[in-house]
Amino acid sequence: MNYFINVILPIPLEKSFTYAITKAEADFLQPGIRVSVPFGKSKIYTALVLEIHNNAPQVYEAKEIHQILDDTPIVTTQQLEHWHWMSKYYLCTLGDVMRAALPSSFVLESETIVSKNENQVIKDEDLKDDEFIIYEALQQQSSLKIQDMMSILDKKNVLPVIKRLLEKNAISVQEEIYEKYKPKLVRYVKIASQFSSQQGLQNLMEDLSRAPKQRDVIMTLFSVSAQTKKPVKVSDLSQESDASSSIIKTLIDKGILEEYHIQMDRVEYDGDDKEDSKQLNEYQEKALSEITETLEKQNITLLHGVTSSGKTEIYVKLIEEQLKAKKQVLYLLPEIALTTQLVERLQNYFGEQVAVFHSKYSSHERVEVWNNVLNNLPKAQIVLGARSSVLLPFKNLGLIIVDEEHESSYKQFDPAPRYHARDTAIVLASIFKSKTLLGSATPSLESYFNAQQGKYGLVELNHRYNNVMMPDIELIDIKDKQKRKRMQGHFSDRLIEEIKETLAQGFQIILFQNRRGFSPIIECNSCGHAPQCPNCDVSLTFHQYRNQLRCHYCGYNAVMPKTCDACGSVELDSKGFGTEQVEQEAKLLFPDHKVGRMDLDTTRGKYGYEKIITALEQGEIDILVGTQMLTKGLDFRNVKLVGIMNADNMLNFPDFRAHERSYQLMVQVSGRAGRTKERGKVLIQTYNPYHKILQQVSTNSYFEMFEEQLGERQAFKYPPVFRMIKITLKHKDFQKVDVGADWYAKSLRTVFGKHVLGPEFPPVARIRNQYLKHILVKIPQKQSLGKTKEAILKINTSFLSVKDFRPIRVILNVDNY
Ligand code: ADP
Ligand code: ZN
Ligand code: ZN
Repeated sequence: MNYFINVILPIPLEKSFTYAITKAEADFLQPGIRVSVPFGKSKIYTALVLEIHNNAPQVYEAKEIHQILDDTPIVTTQQLEHWHWMSKYYLCTLGDVMRAALPSSFVLESETIVSKNENQVIKDEDLKDDEFIIYEALQQQSSLKIQDMMSILDKKNVLPVIKRLLEKNAISVQEEIYEKYKPKLVRYVKIASQFSSQQGLQNLMEDLSRAPKQRDVIMTLFSVSAQTKKPVKVSDLSQESDASSSIIKTLIDKGILEEYHIQMDRVEYDGDDKEDSKQLNEYQEKALSEITETLEKQNITLLHGVTSSGKTEIYVKLIEEQLKAKKQVLYLLPEIALTTQLVERLQNYFGEQVAVFHSKYSSHERVEVWNNVLNNLPKAQIVLGARSSVLLPFKNLGLIIVDEEHESSYKQFDPAPRYHARDTAIVLASIFKSKTLLGSATPSLESYFNAQQGKYGLVELNHRYNNVMMPDIELIDIKDKQKRKRMQGHFSDRLIEEIKETLAQGFQIILFQNRRGFSPIIECNSCGHAPQCPNCDVSLTFHQYRNQLRCHYCGYNAVMPKTCDACGSVELDSKGFGTEQVEQEAKLLFPDHKVGRMDLDTTRGKYGYEKIITALEQGEIDILVGTQMLTKGLDFRNVKLVGIMNADNMLNFPDFRAHERSYQLMVQVSGRAGRTKERGKVLIQTYNPYHKILQQVSTNSYFEMFEEQLGERQAFKYPPVFRMIKITLKHKDFQKVDVGADWYAKSLRTVFGKHVLGPEFPPVARIRNQYLKHILVKIPQKQSLGKTKEAILKINTSFLSVKDFRPIRVILNVDNY
């Protein structure tokens, strides 16, 4: 009898691939174990076993595998089931899903580049011969391809060697250089090693005899660390010894104390200083029991709770229940809502049972979380993570919480799998026969619609915690203000007045402008020319800070010209405005106050985001100007006024979800005002104060917004009433895309008739020198989704079999956002 395995390769192959194995290997292997395999002429890949069987492939001769890489599966059977669903639903390959799911050091292949870990001390005697040879080669060369190592070791089976070196943390796989995500660094001190001996300490004490305060600090440090046997925080030391931070700093400067940092979410908790969860108020209590009740009957419940109603505390109670039942919990959040604030809050309750998972983690950190979840370790009972944490190897999942479920960043845009984390989480929960709770102050139309149709349970929570009033929202007509000369730059007299009053009372202010940069577009007053990106069909944005014009699509940049490129005129003017300009105007209007800015540009650097949040929390910023980054679940105690500088650019965005999104954004950012006893105030500046969405925002009328928007979606056949698949064709040759798209759309029309829209060039039709053209397929509720996808795939296959069209890239995006 012959033995074979089907494997997933980390490349976009439509089908799984078959390899030959021996009987002994067949007895050992299980689905979810990795093997290294040859592919093509000279490539090697890490492949994942899907099934073990006796059927030789029909059309090719199965090659033998090189080697087995794991003793036990690193991917669970539930995950494989989940991956199959994803690949089928989102029209991508299992290889695509595998690549998205596995940390990059799990999927080695001949092209993978590895380098030595500089900050790791490895002793030669800890390395086996083959490991040593590679490690030494990496001392000479900064990085090596796996292919190179095959020739260095003169053998094909190098993946096991690399795997061992990775496990010893001697090397790492080179990835796109992410700025390593560091939520918050906590400062610790220890005594410098030369003083830690008995004698050293004695000498030190004598030296310090004339500096009693410094001596006190050292004594305190000794007694605290003797007591707790844990690292000592600078803040604790300062408190215990009653010494100012400047004394501690002097000791650090003298080299007596050494300062070091530990990342907040990686601090080991011993469980001693855990807090009890809060006692819920009557409304929260009622919501909790309704959630429990609906989840008994249904698999999914939507919690619609206004901002600051205390949803998090309700989640905490639900998590406690799961922990009691020895189940794992997944707590999903949009990437930028995953702040230290929330991590800390949960760690206070659950200590080291919380594992944080972030796409910006290094591969090594991701492997660590992966293994902890897979082994169902105590330190991974609660996974707090962004989108990709739905792809972790849960063992015993009891509940998934999807917070801020309306967030569009839950949908992966590029590359495949283009999955929506909320919907993918729901399927994951169902595989475990467990439950999903969606939460939001501004639910997506999709989820609220599902709740209304009875597919989801619905729980409403309309009371803010502590009876804090909803903010008072005022609309300001800037057209009228302009006419009556009541504007200074982009600030109306009302806004200035309110800012002054708020500052005088000692409260803080948030100014929201949903655009970064200075004044997005520069236009010539003489000829109307606006500088364009040479790679994309889009105007460049002015960034005053660097005196540059930049493209927000491809990163192209150029020095801001002094004269118009087209006519030479010096009258270059700005149209529209961004955060940088608001920041500058605010500085001029309020020169005695600190103005800060939070957008992609200011948060890029190391700890940029955390720094700004901390500065605001600690009162170092009076006025914070920012983009939508400001809206995400932040809990600032002292912010009383929120100004929305211009509501119109959101409302006019060319997308069928623009109105829904504007509503969500404005309500969320308003929710940052007055979260304590003081009632918050929100000023919205607009050219169109009678816009229905603005009225609904100002009266907090979610349901009215929902019904009206749903009506429009119904009338124009958009989600959630219809489903939608977006097909994008992409190529650097305009003609090719144009002709190809026509052919594609025509074929789709023969099947779906009037439910095909396009082809259409998007507003920015060329990005990075590639032309794009979109086709939309709308799918009525009654039409089978499976059959629709089959038909599309069939057309796709015939399209790609036309020689002329083959070079065109086709992107299928299911439930596009
Ligand atoms: P949401 O997530 O609904 O916006 P939060 O959970 O952040 O609201 O709660 C808002 C604030 O109220 C937080 O500072 C939180 O600590 C506090 N809070 C909520 N519920 C309680 C409670 N039961 N007891 C004490 N404080 C609470
Ligand atoms: Zn560009
Ligand atoms: Zn000009």
